[in-house]
Amino acid sequence: MTDSKQNDDAARETTDQLVMQHPAKRYPVIEPPKQDQPEPGLDAELTPKTDRGEYSYRGTGRLEGRKALITGGDSGIGAAVAIAYAREGADVALNYLPAEEEDAQWVKGVIERDGRKCALIPGDLADAAFCASLPDKAVAELGGLDILVNNAGKQIAVGNLEDISDDQITETFDVNIVAMFRVTKAALKHLPPGAAIINTTSIQAYNPSPTLLDYAATKAAINNFTKGLAQQVAERGIRVNAVAPGPFWTPLQVSDGQPKDKLPEFGKNTALGRAGQPTELAPAYVFLASPESSYVLGETLNVNGGTPTP
Ligand code: NAD
Ligand code: MG
Repeated sequence: MTDSKQNDDAARETTDQLVMQHPAKRYPVIEPPKQDQPEPGLDAELTPKTDRGEYSYRGTGRLEGRKALITGGDSGIGAAVAIAYAREGADVALNYLPAEEEDAQWVKGVIERDGRKCALIPGDLADAAFCASLPDKAVAELGGLDILVNNAGKQIAVGNLEDISDDQITETFDVNIVAMFRVTKAALKHLPPGAAIINTTSIQAYNPSPTLLDYAATKAAINNFTKGLAQQVAERGIRVNAVAPGPFWTPLQVSDGQPKDKLPEFGKNTALGRAGQPTELAPAYVFLASPESSYVLGETLNVNGGTPTP
């Protein structure tokens, strides 16, 4: 047995999604060293590495035959959702920025080894025309669309309101919420009854950090958009819900998402005392995409290590 095979088996034993254990112990408490990446960050260069489910997400056939488009699907939470959806039987299309090709290729490799299709559709969600064309491109690749996961996000920490540039305010709103309107609007015509839309919001929607004013405001808007749209499209048989992560270790955090001196403490202020790993979010997105959540609409599912929410 090779060293890497032994490591893989050990990883499977302690992190497998269905092993009963103390939830704080599923992953170690991480103390990320100070590090900096240009935006958008890459999982390929993140220290320590994240668990996106390659060895820990098994799947039980809950999304057999579905076709899913996931924005920000190259890394972090979106990558974990893509791997989980594929393990549940879905084909997926991933959107990301061209600079993230390396991460996207890694996800595609994992999914193709599982025998599912993974289409790659790079492009900038700050571009209105690209947003409008993205669902059509996914349909051309997958032959239809049943699940839309609006997950891409931009997060740049700035200490004082006076120091947030006008460009940053506009870009954060464009990528996080305006693109969500544009992509969802263009996707609706493709979505059959039974389809699901899942938006990634954040604990920041209720509990804004003083350094994330623009970002947190977009997340509050996403919660509101989710609840309103859910009522509008219920009669078409489309369910809309959101997932609100707490602190998850992803490239977003090291590409100016957090003040650098806060990185070693990342996630320690939760009830579980550790940051979440991306694959720990995947079951929430699977639940909301699968027909088993048929009576769940306009809900925000909090996955945050135990921080109380409204
Ligand atoms: P991530 O960096 O892995 O993912 C964010 C993705 O957004 C990037 O991979 C990138 O592909 C995409 N993106 C950014 N700007 C884009 C643009 N202009 N065009 C196209 N794509 C663009 O980090 P993540 O933490 O997995 O973030 C995923 C989502 O989770 C984001 O919406 C983020 O706000 C949200 N979130 C993360 C945390 C956390 O602690 N990591 C907590 C709450 C919410
Ligand atoms: Mg990325």
